[in-house]
Amino acid sequence: MDQTQIDQLRNLPIPEQGLFIDGERRKARHGGTRNVVSPLDGSILTRLAEADEGDVGLAVASAKASFERGSWSKAAPAERKKVMGRIADLIDKHALELAVLGVRDNGTEISMAIKAEPGSAAGTFRYYGELLDKVYGEIAPTHGSVLGLVHHEPVGVVGVIVPWNFPMMIGAWKIAPALAAGNSVVIKPAEVASLSLLRLAEICSEAGLPPGVLNVVTGQGSTVGAALGLHNDVDVLAFTGSGPVGRKLLEYSAQSNLKRVYLELGGKSPNVVFADAPDLDQAAKVAAYGIFRNSGQVCVAGSRLLVERSIHSDFARKVAEYASKMRLGDPLDITTEAGAVVSADQLSKNLDFVARAQAEGASLLTGGTRIREETGGFFMAPTVFDNVTPHSVIAQQEVFGPVLAITPFDSEVDAVSIANSTIYGLASGVWTSNLARAHRMIRAIRAGVVHVNTYGGADITVPLGGVGQSGNGHDKSPHALDKFLNLKTAWIQL
Ligand code: NAD
Repeated sequence: MDQTQIDQLRNLPIPEQGLFIDGERRKARHGGTRNVVSPLDGSILTRLAEADEGDVGLAVASAKASFERGSWSKAAPAERKKVMGRIADLIDKHALELAVLGVRDNGTEISMAIKAEPGSAAGTFRYYGELLDKVYGEIAPTHGSVLGLVHHEPVGVVGVIVPWNFPMMIGAWKIAPALAAGNSVVIKPAEVASLSLLRLAEICSEAGLPPGVLNVVTGQGSTVGAALGLHNDVDVLAFTGSGPVGRKLLEYSAQSNLKRVYLELGGKSPNVVFADAPDLDQAAKVAAYGIFRNSGQVCVAGSRLLVERSIHSDFARKVAEYASKMRLGDPLDITTEAGAVVSADQLSKNLDFVARAQAEGASLLTGGTRIREETGGFFMAPTVFDNVTPHSVIAQQEVFGPVLAITPFDSEVDAVSIANSTIYGLASGVWTSNLARAHRMIRAIRAGVVHVNTYGGADITVPLGGVGQSGNGHDKSPHALDKFLNLKTAWIQL
């Protein structure tokens, strides 16, 4: 990646963006559009189609018809594998274009976006493309007079709803296994980060994905998302986003066809540092980067830092130093380490949390303010609060912004009790040189992921999901395929 290439792409005009239905761009039925505001400078990037329930109906009908035609659902696995591989290759070919488009839309620093968005999406399509012809059925160990066969079948139409922080990565985590399993998909991107997913759909089509197999419908969550959630021809809904919207999706399912709903929700992930951590300086640096990259807009961000009391003050000071030294700035500069907050609304929510933490008596070590206001963009300084009490708002509620809450603890038991004291259970970290303690903590912390002496490791080979109110599904790894398959038993009398 080189700065000159990025600079050539950063001001390219973006044509008005239609929906992607049945293999082509279309205007919304009633012609609705809305402005796309760039978080980099507040400018209007383009206009985006604003769909309604009728457009969702057309997209679902197109997905269902393509599924029934069988051009994808019944294609030989080897054929589907070729197309998935071509999608991955084309994403790689257009990686910089896709990354810059996404950054202009959602503000992630390009150094992270290039790997996390096109990089990860290409890897995900390649991984599930490789996996899809290795899924075998089963012969059940029944009595010898019968033959029990277990088939894996695609579910039909998969609805996908994603947030704005990593639209391509999270989108691909759901689209790729759903397609690999032979389904057709309708995806609804977040209002404030739709552009890269629309482009991805064009790329899939260019790679040979038949019309109707992947549709993208942009618009409001309360209209488009709700219509997808309530649609009787959507068989499975895969969602990443906030808890309150996750709850609504379960209601929509109950009010319609009882579709299966998989939820990947928020977190308030504890990162626990014991005095015997192998390298306290490294732990402090990773703790800062583990919350402040992408301006804290990372579901697994280590937003609660629990530190053993004997090292707490020095450690907190070190983390605040790393936070205040991070290179903030233009998200399209390759040296920037933390980019923009996605929207003016989100920035204002973050600043409200700062005010509440101060009112609750937490000590502000650094940050707490809007920065780079002169650019017209939405930026916030990495913010560190110390001496946060475990039951305060800043320790319990997800900010989804660059705000870290530090709390001292006295013993392993105390650390586990604070770590497990929220409604969430997404990610966590433990820093210790004591192997037995590391294993005890892995067992004791209620979370889908426990990092030991590192934070934020990511790889398509391992599942990512939460427990408690962090959700009920898993993205990534072979397990993600199960969400998009039905089991069918054939019972044959011999
Ligand atoms: P959000 O829940 O507000 O929105 C997510 C999506 O849901 C958007 O596309 C939105 O338009 C749609 N939506 C909103 N209202 C809807 C409704 N009534 N019916 C159907 N759809 C509706 O979340 P967000 O602000 O975009 O993203 C931030 C949240 O996502 C955070 O809580 C974060 O932790 C979570 N997240 C979780 C993971 C994970 O893997 N667990 C990953 C990334 C983000």
